[in-house]
Amino acid sequence: MSENCIFCKIVANELPSKKVYEDDDLLAFLDISPLAPVHILVIPKHHIVSLQDVTDSDQPWLGKMMALVPKLAAENGCEPGPDGGFRIVVNSGQHGGQEVDHLHLHILGGPRPWSGRASLTA
Ligand code: AMP
Ligand code: ZN
Repeated sequence: MSENCIFCKIVANELPSKKVYEDDDLLAFLDISPLAPVHILVIPKHHIVSLQDVTDSDQPWLGKMMALVPKLAAENGCEPGPDGGFRIVVNSGQHGGQEVDHLHLHILGGPRPWSGRASLTA
């Protein structure tokens, strides 16, 4: 756990969140400021700042995180098939538009148009 990291505090239940999935490695919860009808964040439970810090040893939980995406999307209101679908975004570093320094994957879905920050929805 990293001090002053809001996502570590969510993992530790020191801050509230609307959880939609949890296992030993990963946590998923609703984004507090949704930019699409469906907006879920998926994070590793351990603190890692961004995708820039990932190494080969992170492959197991990263693979698990990616495989979880379609399941969470379907369970939380994203429509299936070519007329539905979802977008995933992993902002990394300042140039990548990352605001919270704990690696997270956005799942965005639901009928368009979506409103909100261009960095995520354009
Ligand atoms: P990023 O710009 O990729 O770092 O996105 C950070 C995301 O975290 C934004 O979409 C915020 O709305 C979201 N966020 C910040 N604080 C919280 C919180 N306490 N609970 C849920 N989502 C949050
Ligand atoms: Zn953290």
